[in-house]
Amino acid sequence: MQTKDRLSSTQPKRDRPYDREDWKKGYESQPNEYDYWIDNIEGEIPPDLEGTLFRNGPGLLDINGQQIHHPFDGDGMIAKIALKNGRAYFSNRYVRTEGYLKEQQAGKILYRGVFGTQKPGGWLANFFDFNIKNIANTHIIYWGNKLLALWEAAQPHRLDPNSLETIGIDSLNNALQPGDAFAAHPRIDPHCEADGGEPCLVNFSVKPGLSTTITIYELNRAGKMVRRHAHSVPGFAFLHDMAITPNYCIFFQNPVSFNPLPFLLGWRSASQCLRFNPQEPTKIILIPRNGKDTVKILETEPCFVFHHANAWEENGEVFVDSVCYDSFPSPEPDADFREIDFDTIPAGQLWRFQVNLSRETVTHQTLESRCCEFPTLHPQNVGRPYRYLYIGTAHEAAGNAPLQAILKLDLATGNRQLWSAAPRGFGGEPVFVPRPNGTTEDDGWVLLLMYDAAHHRSDLVILDARDLDCGPIARLHLKHHIPYGLHGSFTPECFIPQG
Ligand code: FE
Repeated sequence: MQTKDRLSSTQPKRDRPYDREDWKKGYESQPNEYDYWIDNIEGEIPPDLEGTLFRNGPGLLDINGQQIHHPFDGDGMIAKIALKNGRAYFSNRYVRTEGYLKEQQAGKILYRGVFGTQKPGGWLANFFDFNIKNIANTHIIYWGNKLLALWEAAQPHRLDPNSLETIGIDSLNNALQPGDAFAAHPRIDPHCEADGGEPCLVNFSVKPGLSTTITIYELNRAGKMVRRHAHSVPGFAFLHDMAITPNYCIFFQNPVSFNPLPFLLGWRSASQCLRFNPQEPTKIILIPRNGKDTVKILETEPCFVFHHANAWEENGEVFVDSVCYDSFPSPEPDADFREIDFDTIPAGQLWRFQVNLSRETVTHQTLESRCCEFPTLHPQNVGRPYRYLYIGTAHEAAGNAPLQAILKLDLATGNRQLWSAAPRGFGGEPVFVPRPNGTTEDDGWVLLLMYDAAHHRSDLVILDARDLDCGPIARLHLKHHIPYGLHGSFTPECFIPQG
C-alpha cells in the first residue's frame, strides 16, 4: 500500500489568495426569484452550445433573520440557465417543499436540520423531534421527461422545467412508497447492457441502522423503474455517493459511528452525532448490478469520501477514483460555518483505488494532492476508462481553502491545466458539456456558476474544455448573486421562453 499525502492540520498561517469577508458574502441568502435574458456578457456564447444548465443548492441561509446552522440545511433553490443561438435566459425558483412553505408562512425555523440547525428554544424544543424537512437542495436532474430536485433522505420533488414551478413530491410512477428515499447522486450508465445498450439511470437509497440496507434502483430512458434490489451490509453506513461500472454499484463505507442519543434528546443534530474512527478501515462495498451475485466487501485505509469521480473495470480489477479526506470533520454544536478555519479541517484529495476481486486486495495512490472537490467528466465515460477529469480546486497547490479554480487533469499524461477565479471569485462544481458531434473526450465546454465578490453577483463561466489555459470563452454576468450551490446537470433540451 502506498503512503498517502496527508495534509497537515497545523500548517502555519499564510497569506491567502482570498479575503474571508469576500468568501462569506457568497453565503448570503438570495430570497428573490428572477426571470430575464442575460444581457451583460463578456465574450460570446458558442452557438453550438445549446441546452439547459440546472443547478441546485441552499438559497436561504436564514429564515427571516434566524441563521441556519449549516448550509446543507438551507432550502433548495433551483437556478436555470437556458442557452440557444448564442443567447441565455436565467431563472430561479425555490422548491416549494412542505417545510419551505410552512417556514415562510411562519417566518421562523420550524424544523431541525440534519446538519446542525436546531429549532430555537434549546434542547427542550428539539427533544425527540424527528420531524426533519425534505429540503430538496442537493441535486437536480432531467430524466424520463421529468425535472427532479433531489435530497438523499427522501423522495424527489418534481418541477416544471419551463417555469420551475414545483409540481410536488414524485414517486417515480409509484415505484417509490411513502418513506422511501432516492439519493442525490444518481449516475447515468451511457450504455446499459441490460437495456440493449441504451442509457439508464442508476441510483440508490440507504436505511442506516445497526446494519444498513442499500437499495439499488435502475430507471430506463423513459423514467420507468426496470431493476430494483436491496442488500443488507453490516454496521452503520453514511453513504452520500456511489460509483458505477457496467457490473457494479460501488460504495465506500466510511469508518464513522453514529450515537443517536444526543440527537434523540435534542442536544445535537444528526450529523453532529457522527464520529470518525481512524483506527478502523474504510470498507469498499461492491453490489453486483444484476442483483443476484454476492455482494463483495473489501477493506482499505481509513478515509472519508463524499464524492467519487469515476470507476471502471479492467482485466478483472475495479478502479475507483474518489475525493478522499483524512477524516470526517466533526462539527461543534455551536460553531458558525461562516467562521470556519480552513487550516484546521481536512482537505479533499483525489485518490485512485485499485481493487483486485480475485485476490481481495486494495491498493491506492494519490492522483492529485491539491485540495479539490466536485469532480466531473464526459458523460460517455461514466463507468468506463477515461482520460480527462475536471474538478473544483483551491487557487494554491497546498493547504485547505475555498474552491476558487477549475483543474483539468489528463490522467494519461499527468498534464494539468488550471483556470482560477482568485482573488475575488469563488467556484464550486464544474459541469462538462460535450460538443455536439465532438471527436475527442475533451471536446466540449466546462460550465461553472461562480460567485464574484467584487460585484456581489454570480457569473456563468464558459471554458473550452480542450484548453482551460485560454481562459473563459464567455462570462455571463447575472444581475445578483446565487449562494454557493451543490450539484447541477446539463440537458441538451432547451427550456427557454419563446420570443
Ligand atoms: Fe454530493
